[in-house]
Amino acid sequence: MKAAALKDAVTVRTIGDELRRQFGCRVHKVPVHAGMTCPNRDGRLGAGGCIYCGPGGSQAAWSDPALSVSEQLRTGMAYARRRYKARKFVAYFQPFTNTYGPVEQLAAHWGAAAGEKDIVGLSVGTRPDCLPEDVLALLVRSRDRLPYLCLELGLQSVHDRTLQILRRGHDFAAFEKAVSRARRREIPLCAHVILGLPGETVEDMMTTVRTLLEMGIEGIKLHHLHVLKNTPLAAAYAKGEIALMSMEAYIDVVAEILRLLSGRMVIHRLMGEAPRGHLVAPAWTTRKPEVVTAIYRRLERTEVGPAVPDMPKVTPQVAFILPQDKA
Ligand code: SF4
Repeated sequence: MKAAALKDAVTVRTIGDELRRQFGCRVHKVPVHAGMTCPNRDGRLGAGGCIYCGPGGSQAAWSDPALSVSEQLRTGMAYARRRYKARKFVAYFQPFTNTYGPVEQLAAHWGAAAGEKDIVGLSVGTRPDCLPEDVLALLVRSRDRLPYLCLELGLQSVHDRTLQILRRGHDFAAFEKAVSRARRREIPLCAHVILGLPGETVEDMMTTVRTLLEMGIEGIKLHHLHVLKNTPLAAAYAKGEIALMSMEAYIDVVAEILRLLSGRMVIHRLMGEAPRGHLVAPAWTTRKPEVVTAIYRRLERTEVGPAVPDMPKVTPQVAFILPQDKA
């Protein structure tokens, strides 16, 4: 049975379904690399970035900052028209921190996207501590031209100890502040969460999702912890200091999350993908269609199923990535 049919067993609202409902056709998100950087990489907050962040900062393989916003969008839209039969598109400003720059520069990027035929919305990925008022106002104004808007906030976990281990450079309180400021301007939000972070139990992960649900965040993007080359996480993994979730454990946890949410948040993603040639582990990262289908199959079962296993405990050496040891 196809995943689309299986998901009816538990209510799952995917972003694809939501966009199709809003625009009456298949809508595809096209990633754009606007050449941004991040305060956690350029020295303002830190120089090494979050421990899992690759040199491309979540860059999609086909987005090239050497090309203009319009060129990237046209290439991406042409591909999505052929591959997915998409008819409308959301410009997704994805790598690094897309609200970290002069507002005039951001206006030029977002304005270029809005000027492209068949672009119906903006999705902007950023950190919770990079939302000045003029940028929030600019986001709101984008709605004069584009009906869809989503501010995607990297959080990963509500637990401050985990955020310190990740070297995020902000705490959960910063996320709460960002949410309340975006709320005042009625900007829809999607929170990015990573499952299987160092030292977290399944209950910690469920607490993160439950907290976001209680805060009324509209959307969530789920990602498993994977190790990319040339990251601090890769060095820790090579020394045996990091344990990764098995595919089976991930499937069980995501199924539990979908049951908890029961359609009360829009699912923007069920697992992450690694840029080709950048992945260290786990190998199952490359089996996304199989994992997603297995998640929906897991939902289909009426029995509770085996207890979701806790993550293995990380070794004491994990202290090497605590914030007092700056990169
Ligand atoms: S905030 Fe995002 S772009 Fe910046 S270092 Fe962390 S993961 Fe990378």
